[in-house]
Amino acid sequence: MCQPLSLYIHVPFCRRKCPYCDFFSVTDPSLIPAYVDGVCKEIRIWSGMTTGRVQTPLHTLYLGGGTPSVLSVSQAARILETVHQALGVIPNAEITMEVNPGTVDAAYLSGIRQLGINRLSIGAQSFDPAKLSFLSRIHTRKQVFETLSGAARAGFSNIGLDLMYALPQETADVWQADLDTALALQLPHLSCYMLTLEPGTPFYRQYKSGHFSPCDPDQRTDFFVHTSRVLEHAGYSHYEVSNFAKNRRFRSVHNTHYWERAAYLGVGPSAHSFLPDGFSDPGGQRHDFGSGPGPLPGSLPCIVKNSGPVRAWNKTDIQVWLDHVTAGRLPWADHEILSPAQEKMEQMMLGLRTDMGVDVNGLHPEIQVLMDRLAGQGSGVFFHHPHTDSRAKRFRLTCSGLTCLDGIVDAIVRKIT
Ligand code: SF4
Repeated sequence: MCQPLSLYIHVPFCRRKCPYCDFFSVTDPSLIPAYVDGVCKEIRIWSGMTTGRVQTPLHTLYLGGGTPSVLSVSQAARILETVHQALGVIPNAEITMEVNPGTVDAAYLSGIRQLGINRLSIGAQSFDPAKLSFLSRIHTRKQVFETLSGAARAGFSNIGLDLMYALPQETADVWQADLDTALALQLPHLSCYMLTLEPGTPFYRQYKSGHFSPCDPDQRTDFFVHTSRVLEHAGYSHYEVSNFAKNRRFRSVHNTHYWERAAYLGVGPSAHSFLPDGFSDPGGQRHDFGSGPGPLPGSLPCIVKNSGPVRAWNKTDIQVWLDHVTAGRLPWADHEILSPAQEKMEQMMLGLRTDMGVDVNGLHPEIQVLMDRLAGQGSGVFFHHPHTDSRAKRFRLTCSGLTCLDGIVDAIVRKIT
């Protein structure tokens, strides 16, 4: 049976680095034209992949970053044309672009809408000037509204807004004001993320040297639960830890593919791919993937059937990545073939993030007993989730359960491995 395939394109350029961000991006725009050439080459490397259980055309396409909206409309057009020619895209596919206020105007938004981009993910983070300043964002509150009105005028109806909370010293009132403003806009999708201090970032160093104290764990939990209650009360479904949609139509199809462990290709520096087994090249030849990346037969990574799903990640250095794709080679830095135990672990970790939860049939009996007990005792952490497939026994986390997702996953993983 054929599986859907998605494509993620990483655009590793930003106007300025935000001090909390650990995504790979650079601020030198002179590299963008070469990058666009390289991305088109990398997409074409995959063009022969039309056999096996995963097939083109693509079901979703996502331009993320970095800041994809630093690309000009014509550069974005070239990339999209290459995708259509080399891989194809199903009719009405979700095609998302991340855009940042301060990098787009009405003409730009209209231009990318005409290219077929039909979903926007807008990196607002906040409407509050003090929060925007603390986060060193390049945009103002006014530019968030301008981006939203430009998007509506350009014909975008599927719009997601990113907001960030749990900043140092953020009060419940400040976060409530952001939520109120977002609710008044009646947007179909909201992503609400807590600020995390990622090692290696300027914020992490500032925190370590005592410049600020992070939001304390109890307050983070309160923020999380409050956010879920407020948004669900306003008609949003809390369908993933950080994501809320007005109805099913506005859930991110692309991200749902990630959480369901569907296949995706990642192109661009540092992008990740996930490939189920059963790939073959256009000649139908199967190849042992062997000990690592490099020049591959037929330019395609071909994996011996039943060797297990492969997760691969691209080289991060833009020049090294360019050298590989220019030579017609996949720019993989490395890959891993997942063992059955790793697969179960991933299913568990990703499934528990979402309102679909996990099917515990086939899991270690101790885990089934543990979940049954927690759900049966009304612990408020798990509940049995009725599902149309009567053979499935699904559990999902409640909102309280989601606040301790990492600990629960750790406990389960210890039993699986
Ligand atoms: S704009 Fe986004 S990707 Fe770029 S540095 Fe800021 S948070 Fe990171």
